Parts: sequence; C-alpha cells; structure tokens
Amino acid sequence: MKRISIFFLIILSLLFISCGSNEARTFTELSLNTICSITVYTDEDEDLVPGAFALMQELSQMIDMYDPGSELSEVNRAAYGNPVKVSDELFSLIEYAYDITVDTDGAFNIAIGPLVRLWGIGGGDEKRPSDEEIEETLELVDWKDIVIDEQEHSIRFLKEGMLIDLSAVGKGYISEIVASYFRDNGAENAIINLGGNVYALGRHPGGRPWKIGLQNPDSERGGYYSTVECTDEAVVTSGGYERFFIDEDGTVYHHILDSDTGYPSSSDIISSSIISNDATLADMLSTACFVSGSEKAVTIAEYYGVKAVFLTKDGSEIRVGF
Ligand code: AMP
Ligand code: MG
Repeated sequence: MKRISIFFLIILSLLFISCGSNEARTFTELSLNTICSITVYTDEDEDLVPGAFALMQELSQMIDMYDPGSELSEVNRAAYGNPVKVSDELFSLIEYAYDITVDTDGAFNIAIGPLVRLWGIGGGDEKRPSDEEIEETLELVDWKDIVIDEQEHSIRFLKEGMLIDLSAVGKGYISEIVASYFRDNGAENAIINLGGNVYALGRHPGGRPWKIGLQNPDSERGGYYSTVECTDEAVVTSGGYERFFIDEDGTVYHHILDSDTGYPSSSDIISSSIISNDATLADMLSTACFVSGSEKAVTIAEYYGVKAVFLTKDGSEIRVGF
C-alpha cells in the first residue's frame, strides 16, 4: 500500500449521510491510496465485504500508475517504440478514457502522467517545478502521441517519457465493479465510498433514495454545501481541496492539472460533482468539468446526459439535469 499523506485525511469530499438504520455496518480500509469505506445494510455473508476489498486491491494492481507491479506500469515502462499488448479490461478502460480525453479536448487527459509525476502528486514528493521543466514536460502530455491498436489490443507511445495516468477515472471504475460484485452476490443496498467517490447501490432500506452530502471545500470534513438524492448511481466529486501541498512561500498547489498550461487548474469551479449510473464516466467528467470551468462544464454535463452540481469561487451552486 502506498504512503498515505496527511492530505488524504481531509479528502472525503463526499460523505454519505446515514439515515440511521440499526442494521448498518460500515467497514473501512486504507486502499487505492485513500480511505475506503463500505456500508452494508443486511446480514450479508461475512465474506462479502472482505471480498470487495480484495477485489479493489486486485483492480488497483491493474491501473495504479504508482505501483511498479501494476499492468499499467508495465505499459508505461515499455510502450515507447514497442506496442504493448494489454488485458481486455485494461484495454477497454484505456479506450474509454482516450475517447473522453478527445471529447473534452484534454480537460480530462489520459496522457497527463508526466506532468503529475513532475509535480510529485500522489508520489509523496510534491514540489513546484520550474517553468522550464513544465514547458518541457508539456511536450509529453499530448494524447495524440498514444497509438491504440484495436485489433491487437496494444498501446504504443510515440515519445519517450510518456505515461498514462488513470487516477482520475480509477476510483469510479472500481466502485462500479464493486457495485456489480454486490449485486451478483445478492446485496441490494450498500454505500461504497472510495475516498469520496461514492457509489450508492440500490436505495436506503427505508425505501427512499440515498441522500449524499457534497463536502463544502471550506468546511471541516462533514460540512456540506448541498445534498443530492440518488438510486443506483455514483456521485463523484473533484475538488482542489482534496489533495494539495503548500510551498515555502505559502502558495497552495492542488492535484488537478490543466494540460494546456501545466499548472493546477484555475477555473472558476472549486468543486465539481457528477451523478450518473456510469461511475467510470462520472469520475472522468468530474475532473474534466473541474478543469473546464462552469460555462463549458454545463455543456459537457448536458452533452453526456449526466446530472451535475458545480460550486464556483463566488459561492454559486450550479445544478444540471435535475
Ligand atoms: P480526480 O480526483 O478524479 O479529479 O483525479 C485527480 C488525479 O488524476 C490526480 O491526482 C492526477 O493523478 C490525475 N490528474 C490530474 N489532472 C488531471 C487531468 N487534467 N486529467 C486527467 N487526470 C488528471
Ligand atoms: Mg475524476
């Protein structure tokens, strides 16, 4: 398991608001570089939740850029020059993420890895790079330099030093697979919270939809600025407050980068939540909308037919699709 930075302890951007069922049981583990909790509501088989955590670990070993043993790391090490064949699961996820990269014109950018590594985000060595380093690294984040071969299921990079980063889609993707695992095992109602990426499976046992709180970026954990109701849907939030570092002169740098500039995104959105039954899409779009700013974000949400809640710097809440 990766180092858990102090910043992760303030990341639960979305918190499930419990409706007080006596049968609720919550299990928490550090996984996927964050705090993950699963709440189940009936007397399920006692192996069910440990099975879900094991599944999460297994999937993380496919897509984690920071795990040298992951399948994605294998691709990142070897794809310059040589096509690398990948598993069907990873290939599908990369293809999906590539499509969203193209559609959002790189606001969500599958090829952002070299910039993320330069800033040390998630690797435990965060630092503000020089402008020259950023300028050079921007050469390596063009998704058009990734060659995806549909016949061969292979990936190739056209430039040395390129890296695919699936961190902005991984938790959504995993939450959806864990939700299917619960369904397949007869569990109808559960809350799967992967570091603030929530999948609300089924309904509250009382019969009403789940109510999910949206973390106020300026409040203590558990301080909400709004809530959304959902059933069999993911609520995925991107916010600069989730993960950041402060350099010597007090400047705060957060972890969501704008691949046009190479710097943390400075759009007018401070929190971007997407609600959809496609959790993988929700995760990608939450990042894309955060980077794009409110005007484009509304268009993106409408185009994909997802629900969205955006909080802007001036304190306005924008709701789409409700
Ligand atoms: P999220 O919290 O889902 O918005 O994802 C943020 C994580 O995705 C960061 O920690 C980076 O590893 C990576 N990332 C940062 N900026 C972007 C971006 N513009 N597009 C795709 N991934 C990004
Ligand atoms: Mg995301």
